[in-house]
Amino acid sequence: MTTDLSTTLYERAGDLFPGGVNSPVRAWRNVGGGPRFIASARGATITDVDGTTYCDFVASWGAAIAGHAHPSVVAAVQSAAAAGLGYGAPCPAEVELGQAITRAIPSIEKLRMVSSGTEALMSAIRVARAFTARPKILKFAGCYHGHSDGLLARAGSGALTFAVPDSAGVPEAVTSHTLVADYNDIEGTKAMIEAHADDLAAVVIEPIAANMGVVPPTPGFLQALRDLTSAVGALLIFDEVICGFRVAFGGAQERLGVRPDMTCLAKIIGGGLPAGCFGGRAEIMDLLAPDGPVYQAGTLSGNPVAMAAGRETLALLEGDAYDRLEELGSRIEIGLNDIIRVAGRPAVVQRVGSMFTLFLGIDRASNLTEVESLDRDAFRAFFHAMLERGFYLPPSPFEASFLSLAHTEADVDGYLAAARETLT
Ligand SMILES: *Cc1c(COP(=O)(O)O)cnc(C)c1O
Repeated sequence: MTTDLSTTLYERAGDLFPGGVNSPVRAWRNVGGGPRFIASARGATITDVDGTTYCDFVASWGAAIAGHAHPSVVAAVQSAAAAGLGYGAPCPAEVELGQAITRAIPSIEKLRMVSSGTEALMSAIRVARAFTARPKILKFAGCYHGHSDGLLARAGSGALTFAVPDSAGVPEAVTSHTLVADYNDIEGTKAMIEAHADDLAAVVIEPIAANMGVVPPTPGFLQALRDLTSAVGALLIFDEVICGFRVAFGGAQERLGVRPDMTCLAKIIGGGLPAGCFGGRAEIMDLLAPDGPVYQAGTLSGNPVAMAAGRETLALLEGDAYDRLEELGSRIEIGLNDIIRVAGRPAVVQRVGSMFTLFLGIDRASNLTEVESLDRDAFRAFFHAMLERGFYLPPSPFEASFLSLAHTEADVDGYLAAARETLT
């Protein structure tokens, strides 16, 4: 397997882009080596510029749930593009996608389209603050909600103090309104919510965490958040940017049976193109301009080509798609558990539907502290061994792997055979 062209491109990219990339995880700093530049992707595979084809478990970070370049999605995009790439005016496709979303997720009575998950979360929080006339938000360590200033905090040891920014360039004045609790810690979260009851606008959470690897909520955790927020008059915001349309057609809220006040979506609803949305109870959403006093806008929001890709992707997910994804997910989970048992090394597989993480070096992963003690060296070796065998995994131990409708039993069995060779 040669990587000459990728290497050349990465050198050129290094002169243009900080770190040679336009989003940090793509630089492979967690695994070492230079990233592959991708020339094309189809179904469950991606092909790099040097001509090597891999079975892909990144799936555009979950967006490609129907498989890359699905013919009907490509056709929808082509016909939308031929009718104009964007108008800066309303178009039918945004109504169609909006209806598909509100039908699938009944807690979203009204919504607004944006162009990324970051925008969705940033805007949802602005509305939540306006609705409650309160400043503070509470998030959980290890949950990622995009890179807007107030959300780039996860707190270090002193979880009861105000958060320290995670990034340079974020004033403490901004994150001083962000509280950070531990995922799955009902008691600690309860204490924090009660201590800030009068100031708390919203609790925001990935209802199934997937940005510290897949960490499902323990039974009762989300319901406790529902009850606690209602009791103090704060909003509950589900960040379903990854799990929306991934773990069920109605997202994590359908699968786990907890109804939030607001929901954010992106990734799958753009079908691979830039699109996101935030929505929720009508009385909250009606605060947005032009009806209400909360300003929010976007030149490319509701872009007709992105809306067409999203609408067509959601259409492919009706019917028995989630049974199929569950089948594939379960097959990989059972296989990985067998391998771990035989290998006799500490590791744990966590999966919800078609997203999963194999944590190497730890037996439990229920919050960020536990996840952070995983074995980074073991993951680095695993990543490169899998790559050599033709399997393209997320280049970080703190990410979810994704299956799509284009993956086959043979792909899963191939992955398991390669993993067995590598880990035992
Ligand atoms: C990807 C992601 C975001 C950010 O979305 P972008 O489109 O990258 O801005 C926010 N929340 C979660 C849970 C995500 O996985």
